[in-house]
Amino acid sequence: MEKRDWEKLIENLIKERILRTPKVIKAMRSVPRGNFLPENMQSYSAVDTPLPIGFGQTVSAPHMVSIMNEALQLEIGQKVLEIGAGSGWHAATIAEIVAPSDTPRSEWGHVYTTEIIEGLAEFARKNVRNAGYSDRITIICTDGSMGYPEKAPYDRIIVTAAAPDVPQPLIEQLKPNGIMLIPVGTVHLFQSLIKITKSADGEIKRENLGGVAFVPLTGRYGHKF
Ligand code: SAM
Repeated sequence: MEKRDWEKLIENLIKERILRTPKVIKAMRSVPRGNFLPENMQSYSAVDTPLPIGFGQTVSAPHMVSIMNEALQLEIGQKVLEIGAGSGWHAATIAEIVAPSDTPRSEWGHVYTTEIIEGLAEFARKNVRNAGYSDRITIICTDGSMGYPEKAPYDRIIVTAAAPDVPQPLIEQLKPNGIMLIPVGTVHLFQSLIKITKSADGEIKRENLGGVAFVPLTGRYGHKF
């Protein structure tokens, strides 16, 4: 991948107002997708589509990661849970916002990311290590449809696979004033990106951010095959 292709993609996302917030833009610039792809996909890294990462799974398109990172309202110091580590790229863009490289470690937040496929958890670990984010991202090979109660509650939860409905354990593991993003719908079709906001007194608000296409969430609260 050419550095200028990645920059051109970022400029387009800014022009289209998909990327708007300086820290989100900075994170996308600092963490190019090419470093998180299998070798045979690296030349496509700046093409704005999902790309195969093996095991029948994909890394999300840059515009989708941008939409989600903008909607998450991320802040330095937050604790974030991701369901679906895949390549580790999305987690690294989030880590760059909640624990930026140019901020003292004492202020850093942390990203916990779960992956149900062992081979992908290993792939994500390798990518995250090579990109220098091992101290800000923990990758756990587990069924994340039940969340990760060991480190709950979380300021933010992001699910990067489509669920049949919002799993109750994820709602329970969200802090008051927390935000969760989750694609909800059938396998490959009729999916919407849902934003769940938990108020200070625990009230849940549900908002539809529009149509999306994600691989299915599997596991206990996922789709059954
Ligand atoms: N965020 C990823 C990235 O940056 O590459 C892309 C994620 S991919 C669209 C969805 C991932 O969710 C797949 O790697 C899939 O194996 C994983 N997944 C599906 N069901 C899961 C579950 N119950 N727990 C954890 N991971 C799951």
